[in-house]
Amino acid sequence: MDARDNGASYSSGEEVSCSHNKLETQKQEADATVYMNFMKSHSCYDAVPVSCKLVIFDTTLQVKKAFFALVANGLRAAPLWDNKLQRFVGMLTITDFINILHCYYKSPMVQIYGLESHKIETWRDVYLYDPSQYLVSISPEARHRIHRLPVIDPESGNVLHILTHKRILKFLHIFGSKVPRPVFIQKQILELGIGTFRNIATIQQTASLYDALSIFVERRVSALPVVDERGKVVALYSRFDVINLAAQKTYNNLDITMEEAVRGRTCYVEGVITCYPDETLEAIIERIVKAEVHRLVLVDRAGVVKGIISLSDLLQALVLTPAGIDALLS
Ligand code: ADP
Ligand code: ADP
Ligand code: AMP
Repeated sequence: MDARDNGASYSSGEEVSCSHNKLETQKQEADATVYMNFMKSHSCYDAVPVSCKLVIFDTTLQVKKAFFALVANGLRAAPLWDNKLQRFVGMLTITDFINILHCYYKSPMVQIYGLESHKIETWRDVYLYDPSQYLVSISPEARHRIHRLPVIDPESGNVLHILTHKRILKFLHIFGSKVPRPVFIQKQILELGIGTFRNIATIQQTASLYDALSIFVERRVSALPVVDERGKVVALYSRFDVINLAAQKTYNNLDITMEEAVRGRTCYVEGVITCYPDETLEAIIERIVKAEVHRLVLVDRAGVVKGIISLSDLLQALVLTPAGIDALLS
């Protein structure tokens, strides 16, 4: 009897401890998914700013004029309207500008044929496997799979806004402050493994601008830390900076060095916005939101490049990948 009592009391103690552990795990999981649930409970419409500028290009417009129009309006991308098909067929972004320069550049003495002669539709015929492909978009009421997309009103068919990583993180930062702060944002970035830490694409300051465009095309990265011969970061050159070439009409000479390209920019961020591996996720979010840049360059104490922490890495880890919960709980 005593033995059975003892056994019973032992087993109920185990149950209590088990359910306590289960509760604790559930609490930690709820804590880790707080941003995911926050984003699921809001529509794209909530993340769209009250007023914004939107430019739409007809596909018969010349590509050169389109890029100048992007520059003149301080924009990075525009939806494309096909008048014959009477629908949006895609986007024109800085990536297209880089691809045209890279594809047609010969030397500083020769005009860039594709830029001078192509209409947007001609470029799409050359570049796209299927030029009639649809614009990837999302309706303002959609509640998941938010990415970098035009938001289209399903009734009028009008584009309301183009959602980007920057806008989504800003929305999360401003309005997400209403939800309790999860414990994991106090952890160190390296411990959480958020970002890219291997095979970082960089460019030497003595390399040519054409070399940088080749890396943009081949590696599809959004920016390159510019480094000296010891691997120390001296500047950052992003896809956005390439549009400066259209603004200044200096795209005909891509043989200039990266040092010259960096110096020639008119609209840029002073210095390089960096972070250290032992900084907390919270400190990194604060810095990236405040600086309004797409990524931080992770460096060691000597300033040597060790990684990249991009907005897409942060959104992946905060919102999209509950799989990341394992790392967050450990
Ligand atoms: P960027 O970093 O220059 O803004 P993106 O990664 O947005 O470039 O675009 C890469 C390529 O995909 C470009 O050729 C662009 O025209 C195309 N593209 C971008 N967004 C969309 C979209 N929503 N629908 C269709 N094509 C798109
Ligand atoms: P986008 O707003 O199109 O995402 P980026 O944030 O890549 O563009 O770039 C906007 C400007 O900020 C560019 O001039 C770029 O060189 C600069 N920039 C981006 N990230 C950094 C950084 N970590 N350090 C310094 N400047 C940066
Ligand atoms: P982004 O294009 O900046 O949104 O980033 C997409 C992915 O590429 C993220 O995982 C980044 O960490 C990574 N990334 C961005 N820039 C670089 C780079 N220069 N070298 C290596 N990885 C990068």
